[in-house]
Amino acid sequence: MSKEYPAEDKNHKFKIQDIKLECGIFVKVDWNSKTKCGGCGKEIFWAATKNEKIMPIELIGHCKWNTHFATCPDANKFRNN
Ligand SMILES: [Zn+2]
Repeated sequence: MSKEYPAEDKNHKFKIQDIKLECGIFVKVDWNSKTKCGGCGKEIFWAATKNEKIMPIELIGHCKWNTHFATCPDANKFRNN
């Protein structure tokens, strides 16, 4: 079964957007999820792939996004979840 993000409603404002990463995959980003990587401290957002795999993404240029797995020196920590 596919799990959808909750739609915007009266109580919560979700700010979800589909974007394409530089590696070519499409993800849904939650722009409210801005945080810092627990490993390297870089500013990241959380995104979900079509397969509902959650991954951190980072800004790599003007309006260019890519998975933070690609650059994070501590990427192993994410994968061990
Ligand atoms: Zn990192």
